[in-house]
Amino acid sequence: MPELCTPGETLRILDKYGIRARKRYGQNFLIDANVVHAIVAAAGIGPDDCVLEIGPGIGSMTGILASAARSVVAVEIDESLKDVLAETLAGHGNVEVIWNDVLKLDMKELADRCGCGRPLKCVANLPYYVTTPILMQLLAERGCFDSITIMVQKEVADRICASPGSKDYGALTLAVDYYCRPEKVLDVQPSCFIPRPGVVSSVLNLKAFGAPPVKADERFLFAVIRASFNQRRKTLVNGVMNGLTVDGRRLQVPRAAVENALQTIGQPAAVRGENLSLGQFAAFSEELRRSL
Ligand code: SAM
Repeated sequence: MPELCTPGETLRILDKYGIRARKRYGQNFLIDANVVHAIVAAAGIGPDDCVLEIGPGIGSMTGILASAARSVVAVEIDESLKDVLAETLAGHGNVEVIWNDVLKLDMKELADRCGCGRPLKCVANLPYYVTTPILMQLLAERGCFDSITIMVQKEVADRICASPGSKDYGALTLAVDYYCRPEKVLDVQPSCFIPRPGVVSSVLNLKAFGAPPVKADERFLFAVIRASFNQRRKTLVNGVMNGLTVDGRRLQVPRAAVENALQTIGQPAAVRGENLSLGQFAAFSEELRRSL
């Protein structure tokens, strides 16, 4: 079978099965073989690897992943693609397709069942309408994934890779930094998809840490980060005093406690959340937690 990720072959398949890309499922099919091969290369897939692909679509990337990996489990929400994938994956006996919303799956169970005894590699051209929930679902299951190689909107990639002090830096940057080391692989133009998305995309490779890179009570740390970025133009002191919610419980935090914790880590009382690194957030949240 010829490579699917060309404009001609993609249009032929869509036409043959009477498929129209569904906007509500974020369907933009890749038609550039160079991009697909670059994604698979960045994921570093070898013959011993088991891969999770989220949203195989018409299978443009799935066959290439299956040729490189030991096995692929692909999760697709759109059951109208069943006949298409039956044709395009016919030559690949090492692919299992799960017809479901990936957000409804238990990742730990999936990784245990499909992971060949070690963490999965996740590869996905993610549907942009649910990028953040899917990413958080993957990250939160520490140990299930060795790496996550994803296509996202460039704007989201810039937020994930941002440095402290920059306009893109925020809670998403810190959440990703807590679980893995992100690296931008390449930008992808709208002309590489059918239909063309309205924005430029980027491929990221996220290499999972075995253990958190900082020592802190995880729930308290993330509560502090959320509170600090709730209202972007507020100082961290005001954000934490007015919005610290841990496990659904709003905490009353005296100004002096926040200011003392900041002073202990060498930061001025007027500092904003966007100026602190993950390590500084961890040190600050531990000081604060111990003082409450
Ligand atoms: N991998 C294909 C490609 O690169 O050409 C398709 C990528 S398209 C951007 C996103 C795919 O994710 C679509 O096939 C869509 O139906 C699927 N999808 C959307 N939401 C999903 C969800 N919640 N769970 C699983 N698959 C989903």
